[in-house]
Amino acid sequence: MLKARGLILLGIALTVATIIASEKRYSGYKVYTVKKARNDTEYKALLELQKNFKKVDFWSDPSKRRPTDIMVSPEDLTKTEQFLSSHGLEYSVAINDVQRVVEKENVRSTRQSGMNWRDYQRLRTIHDWLDSLAAFNPQVAQTGSIGRSTEGRNLKMIKLSKNPEKKNPVIYIDGGIHAREWISPAVTTYIIGKLMSLSPQDADLLENVDWHIVPVLNPDGYEYTFNEDRLWRKSRSLHNGPNCPGVDLNRNFDFHWGEAGTNDDPCRNTYPGPYPFSEPEANSTASYLFNNRNKIRAYLTFHSYSQLWLTPYGYTEDLPSDYEELESLGLRAARALQEVYGTEYEVGAPSHILYLYSGSSQDWAREYGNVKYSYTIELRDDGDEKFLLSPENILPTCEETWEAVKVVARYLVENRKTGKDTTAAKRPPPPFPPVPTYIKKNKDEENADIDGNYDSDSSEEEDADVV
Ligand SMILES: [Zn+2]
Repeated sequence: MLKARGLILLGIALTVATIIASEKRYSGYKVYTVKKARNDTEYKALLELQKNFKKVDFWSDPSKRRPTDIMVSPEDLTKTEQFLSSHGLEYSVAINDVQRVVEKENVRSTRQSGMNWRDYQRLRTIHDWLDSLAAFNPQVAQTGSIGRSTEGRNLKMIKLSKNPEKKNPVIYIDGGIHAREWISPAVTTYIIGKLMSLSPQDADLLENVDWHIVPVLNPDGYEYTFNEDRLWRKSRSLHNGPNCPGVDLNRNFDFHWGEAGTNDDPCRNTYPGPYPFSEPEANSTASYLFNNRNKIRAYLTFHSYSQLWLTPYGYTEDLPSDYEELESLGLRAARALQEVYGTEYEVGAPSHILYLYSGSSQDWAREYGNVKYSYTIELRDDGDEKFLLSPENILPTCEETWEAVKVVARYLVENRKTGKDTTAAKRPPPPFPPVPTYIKKNKDEENADIDGNYDSDSSEEEDADVV
């Protein structure tokens, strides 16, 4: 009897230990901000650090334009500091203990009170909310899915259209392509909420524009950030076995794939995948953009952090011929944003204000999706909290961003009258590889785990091809 009780206690202890151990902790991890490289030597030193210190997580890539943020584990602190000092790289400690900041944020995010913008929301809350919007507003809102993630979750989209017969310009929006950038799905859902409750002076935004929005494009990664690792960035595919899962979805698109700003080591955060469109999330997005290339006039893809409004292209230092117009619209949007709380954004091409990145959704949309106004928006903040933006900042970030989005929407309507938007895809995209099939979990897992944050009824299946 005693022995049996001992075994039970041991079992409980092991279970608790497993639960605790399954969540990655960041005790003693620090984030350093390294001052922007002042010359080629410093820039090369940063690249060397990135290449050789495999466990250092670059929250932003080395750049001559901006400071670089790096997260360092306790074991690597000393040698990283030594490397920085010996190469004359000036740095400061931006976050002293990452775990403490993660916990501060999580205390609130675990509260369950339905959809709101005081807390970060779980996938299920977001998806249920989208379905309820569609159920209560069938004349305007429709939900469906542009595909499935690697683990079988729906890539849920909501389409908002008041006057389908008018053939309005479409704004395509997605969020959460990088899992740890929690403010992004918060902003995309806020935009949906605003569009569903427009004030009379904003009614034109639904009268004259249609909206196709995927609030969480990387649902596997997003859930993983709540359950296992708050700072996970990539998808959750297993091309290279279980040791180094995931692909950077924003490097997986088939346009200048695998070039600047990527790393072919599958363990790294900017791994572009084994081949272009290896990831169903990227593949499905491109298919949708291509199939709707004559309707979608603007693409806004929300990331964090840095407060940047990025024009195409990410892969090159060359500017497109219509850069001036793209920049001017970005500046107008950023000005409207700033008027709300004074938040300052930089506007420009990635090579001018950030760093190069290739294989991105933004570039693909512009090149093959025929989307002239294709922007990557790096949301708040530009300072202290970075990916771990505290819940108090969610609502202000959403409110100011909404003002910028409105500027883009009204510009498209105006454009329609002036005929300024004359983009035509120069050439068809390379053929898509087949959409990778998602990993079908067994029935129990499907109900309890994956779809523990998901509907287990068949309605998800039924509306899978609506959009
Ligand atoms: Zn991102």
